[in-house]
Amino acid sequence: MVFDSITSKITGILDTIRGADKLTAENIEEAVQEMRKVLLDADVNFQVANSLVKAVKEKAVGERRIDNVNPSQQFVKILYDELVDIMGGDEAPIATSATDQPTVLLLAGLQGAGKTTAAAKLALYLQTPQTRLDASGDAEGGEGEGGKGTMTKPRKVLLVAADVYRPAAIDQLQILGERVGCEVFTMGQDVDPVDIVKQGVAYAKEQGYDTVIVDTAGRQVVDDALMAELKRIKEAVPPDEVLLVVDAMTGQEAALLTQTFNEQIGISGAILTKLDGDTRGGSALSVRGVSGKPIKFVGVGEGMDKLEPFYPKRMASRIIGMGDVVSLVEKAQKQMSERDALDLTKRIQKGQYDFNDFMKQSDMINKMGSVGQFLSYIPGMSNMVSRDQIKTMSKKFRKYRTFIDAMTEEERESPDLFTKEKGAQQRMRRLADETDEPIEEVQGFVRDFMKQRRQMMLMSRQMMGGADLDKAASGDE
Ligand code: GDP
Repeated sequence: MVFDSITSKITGILDTIRGADKLTAENIEEAVQEMRKVLLDADVNFQVANSLVKAVKEKAVGERRIDNVNPSQQFVKILYDELVDIMGGDEAPIATSATDQPTVLLLAGLQGAGKTTAAAKLALYLQTPQTRLDASGDAEGGEGEGGKGTMTKPRKVLLVAADVYRPAAIDQLQILGERVGCEVFTMGQDVDPVDIVKQGVAYAKEQGYDTVIVDTAGRQVVDDALMAELKRIKEAVPPDEVLLVVDAMTGQEAALLTQTFNEQIGISGAILTKLDGDTRGGSALSVRGVSGKPIKFVGVGEGMDKLEPFYPKRMASRIIGMGDVVSLVEKAQKQMSERDALDLTKRIQKGQYDFNDFMKQSDMINKMGSVGQFLSYIPGMSNMVSRDQIKTMSKKFRKYRTFIDAMTEEERESPDLFTKEKGAQQRMRRLADETDEPIEEVQGFVRDFMKQRRQMMLMSRQMMGGADLDKAASGDE
């Protein structure tokens, strides 16, 4: 496989930190320098490798230690995140026309890159209903299997043969079109490609096709004539996507070519072909970083079905070969919010619960979806609060937030300012004015808050009995 050598070398690097009990400036430095060599060996663009290494280093140095995760696992996760990032984060789907015109996809590229093949493969792909993966399922999903996701609607595709310079190109597209069951629009070789594309799109509309894939001319090298022709086609149509087909075997060239095309004619993405071949894979990592444009598809074989959407998360998982470690660390990171909840319980118990805690709590609730779920994070709490109480609480939370938004920082930290201190009434009046609510509402809110705080404190103390929360919150056994 393409990334086998990177993957095995990364495993070696991680061995250097595996034995350590935490990430230190020294072991991080050693690991990232090795990492840099591995990337350059894999033909990753120099600047992309440098910026990746710099980002990994900065994150790793600042990283908090997570329980139940060893330093090398933590390092894998950081590396994974950065790899995903340089490849563009989430997948970049193919555009759909926003008008009643068919969607026009223009394919460009140098001769031999696999453009004609990619045109037919893409037609087959778009004609077939696909399961689109949820971005979140990528890291855990293995290669090839469906995973979670939604089905896409099959498109009605017309292929347009606009490569009039290479005699065999039109024939080749027709043969491939037949293989994938897609009509090919052709006007022969003696016609201006701009006219072919214009008429092809008109024909598509007339015949009820919703997508047009144009196979444009390729040259041996980037030349002015090629760029000028693409520009003319782009202006005449205009396309929803301009996809540059680049050959992964050309390594760094693929990324530079994408940059050149983008600068000269403006493209929307790349199709990286021949990723199945004898390539070191560096182009997959470099295209986005160098050109700023995402890889949208990868070609992984000569067969018509050998075209896959490019999922940065899956690719990163494949490169580091440790998808399971990544999901382990993700789970451990989620447990950090349990730790936060424990800190909160401690504050409740000590009677230090303030309006900031309340805000944090309601943010967490929003994130987690429900009050009940949130309470399940506070040990024993879910049994102590009735369903009805939960319901009323959720409703009130929203209004309460507006009052807290109107408070000063000092007020948020010291709820007693609204009860015991002089000027408490004036403060409440101010909140009422600022939020356009009757003063009684604010008074009710303060009363509720204080009552809740007292109740939570008593409940929590009762429940936890002699448990030492300080100890639990600091993570010591
Ligand atoms: P064009 O000149 O850019 O139109 O290139 P072609 O579509 O004619 O492809 C050139 C050669 O590359 C053909 O032999 C294709 O079968 C081959 N090819 C294209 N894509 C892939 C791929 O993803 N993997 C492999 N192994 N070969 C490919």
